[in-house]
Amino acid sequence: MIRALLFDLDNTLYSEATGLETGVAQRMNQFVAELLGMQVHEAMKYRREQAKPYGTTLEWLMREKGFTEPERYFSFIHPNGEEGCLEPDHVLRLMLNEIPLPKAVLTNAPMDHARRILEKLDIADCFVGVYDIWFNNLLGKPNRDAYLRVLKSAGFVLEDTLFIDDLPKYVKGYIDLGGPAILKDELNRFPDLPCKRITTIYELAAVLDEMGISA
Ligand SMILES: [Mg+2]
Repeated sequence: MIRALLFDLDNTLYSEATGLETGVAQRMNQFVAELLGMQVHEAMKYRREQAKPYGTTLEWLMREKGFTEPERYFSFIHPNGEEGCLEPDHVLRLMLNEIPLPKAVLTNAPMDHARRILEKLDIADCFVGVYDIWFNNLLGKPNRDAYLRVLKSAGFVLEDTLFIDDLPKYVKGYIDLGGPAILKDELNRFPDLPCKRITTIYELAAVLDEMGISA
């Protein structure tokens, strides 16, 4: 029985077609290029390969490159105004408000970014909690403690909490713990993954309806 919802933020609660996350990824590549003295195109490839075993690029830089300035990293990749490409989403707001379950957000981004995005989408008050990367001591998804710490704080039970994220490795982390999860696979990139998939967040109400949770 699903009794709560736990959402990823970026590219899950808004479409990747907004380009917001593309901008974040470009700034990550630029940051890594400057930090490691590379060209941006080299840094892009290097980051993609090297950061893979880690939950985030920041985790990789801190563990492997002796990087110690997470605040500087976050303010570079999440500048003021980054949310300019988003619009208030009244359809999403209505859908969330009609789903009679408590909802929280678990993001590997910092709180400034999360607040900015949720406020711009006009859905900030739809959630009982928003948990950022600092809440998880900079060790976010897919580390098991990241999920468990958030569930505990929100008062949610793993087996009863549906997790929705657009990255397979974060969805897998939750499923491996024993929780139910859905992959938001906007461009149908992962048809072979053995989990429930949706292409837009607006499909969530119908999925819950199928599971017997009606708005
Ligand atoms: Mg995401």
